[in-house]
Amino acid sequence: MKESRAMQKLPPYLFARIEAKTAEAREKGIDVINLGIGDPDMPTPRHIIDVMAQEIYHPENHQYPSSVGLPDYRRAVADWYRRRFGVALDAKSEVVSLLGSKEGIAHIAFAFLDREDISLVPDPGYPVYNIGALLAGAQPYYMPLLESNGYKPVLADIPTDVAQKAKLMFLNYPGNPTGAVAGLDFFAEAVEFARCYDILICHDAAYSEMAYDGLLPPSFLQAPGAKDHAIEFHSVSKTYNMTGWRLGWAVGNAQAIEVLGRFKSNVDSGVFQAVQRAGIAALNGPQQCVDEMRAVYQERREVAIKGLEGMGWKVKPPAASFYFWAPVPAGHTSASFAEEVLEQCGVIITPGSGYGQYGEGYFRIALTVPKERIEEAFARMAKAGIRG
Ligand SMILES: *Cc1c(COP(=O)(O)O)cnc(C)c1O
Repeated sequence: MKESRAMQKLPPYLFARIEAKTAEAREKGIDVINLGIGDPDMPTPRHIIDVMAQEIYHPENHQYPSSVGLPDYRRAVADWYRRRFGVALDAKSEVVSLLGSKEGIAHIAFAFLDREDISLVPDPGYPVYNIGALLAGAQPYYMPLLESNGYKPVLADIPTDVAQKAKLMFLNYPGNPTGAVAGLDFFAEAVEFARCYDILICHDAAYSEMAYDGLLPPSFLQAPGAKDHAIEFHSVSKTYNMTGWRLGWAVGNAQAIEVLGRFKSNVDSGVFQAVQRAGIAALNGPQQCVDEMRAVYQERREVAIKGLEGMGWKVKPPAASFYFWAPVPAGHTSASFAEEVLEQCGVIITPGSGYGQYGEGYFRIALTVPKERIEEAFARMAKAGIRG
């Protein structure tokens, strides 16, 4: 048998490779500290689990769900957008459920891209943006995100012929892996660019609730005219420690939401309704759990700042997300540094090159282990003589 050319062209999924390396080190008996994967370590809040436990007994939840989501679920998403961002959404036409936002981010490429089409993707960025385009047989065009520009793409630098062939543009603020945030001024600029070239903007807001020092990052849909040219992906994954539940949504431009929903009705049958009911409980329920989660990450962030500064890094702490994005020491590539840290310290960090060409020279750590483990990781690195 022979896999497709598109499959052959895919780079190995970064996290799959890291998982394999971790397993290998653990087999050797090494106490591995994994700062590599952005998956919350804290449990889903109890009130959400309790709803799931009840809903699982209801026979109506045992049948195929609607592929676009329960009306109640879509209404809960719309209500949350109104409360949190002041954005009005029609639950029927401007909200679609997803099996986690990753599913929608990958599938939107199939719903909008033909062979010669271009998808504008951030570099460094979440790998699914360009993988979607590659699987759909289209072309990713990488927009460099530079530290000097606050990790925002310079839209004027995109060549006109590329912009004319582009049908999608992915943006992600607060950003993975950089932790950068963007304001409504940049979002407004992106809307104008999308209007000019007839591009659908796909904004990934997975980390909108994960910010520090009281910051409340905006939704892309708060920018004037955004709903004419954009959709936003989001999920309960990071906000409510629900990565394993697979529940997300896309919201915004009604035509794009309809196309994505129609695509999905052909390939999947929606999210288990008990999970959607739990999601409603998450969105409509008490939000104290989110404050508590932010406080935990804020504390871990302080530990990481201290640890990195102690080894000589000049740290610019992230304004949001649970990631640190920092330059590798001189003389190292991203990969050689990650390898050294794993071999000498039993600590997994992510090489920046896994997020694109412009990620080379950086590494990412995720604050998704208890603070004692973060302290231990930095102690091991300092003891091994690592200097930033
Ligand atoms: C974690 C993450 C998501 C969320 O993925 P789900 O499929 O909703 O769990 C989306 N985008 C980025 C950039 C992420 O890091």
